Amino acid sequence: MLDQLIENNRHWAHKKTEIDPEFFKRLVAQQSPEYFWIGCSDSRVPANEIVNLDPGELFVHRNVANLAPSQDANYLSVLQYAVQVLKVKHVMVVGHYGCGGVRAAIESQGDSLIDHWLSPIREVAHSHQHELAEIHDDTEHFDRLCELNVIAQVRNVALTPIVQNAWRSGQPLTIHGWVYSIANGLVTDQGVSVANFDDRQRVFDI
Ligand code: ZN
Repeated sequence: MLDQLIENNRHWAHKKTEIDPEFFKRLVAQQSPEYFWIGCSDSRVPANEIVNLDPGELFVHRNVANLAPSQDANYLSVLQYAVQVLKVKHVMVVGHYGCGGVRAAIESQGDSLIDHWLSPIREVAHSHQHELAEIHDDTEHFDRLCELNVIAQVRNVALTPIVQNAWRSGQPLTIHGWVYSIANGLVTDQGVSVANFDDRQRVFDI
């Protein structure tokens, strides 16, 4: 089976150079992506493919349920590199409807590592418990929680010293919240884009 993957890779690389002979040579020289994607690890949400971007055009960090917790050194390191070194112009937090991580956060609370990882989603659910209690359809309920989780993570990113320092120094940087639908392949902007302190005040009251 892995032989097939290697074969696929040979075919892909060949096709790339057939269309653009300098493609890989340019990539070796540098990467200068304008976009940083924070998404879910779910195999049905492939970052580059969804927005039709080539290697070199999208910087990517993925974890279960697209979280951006302020104590996670992995995510913060990637964010810092994206903002300070690559100077990306846009950060997209991209959740997706039907996220197993979001559902597991509510339905299977144990004491394993994944339950600990997913605890920020329980906090999101708690702080929106009244709105969520009104949604009786099971799918709609969790889909709304997927949206609320994305919005909470946009807020987290916008509160990091990394982003605040960029804004203070006048570096153009906008944080966006998107939710992807596995059912139709479309992304929905959640309308919480923040590009400066005024935006953050207006959108998040903070
Ligand atoms: Zn997911």
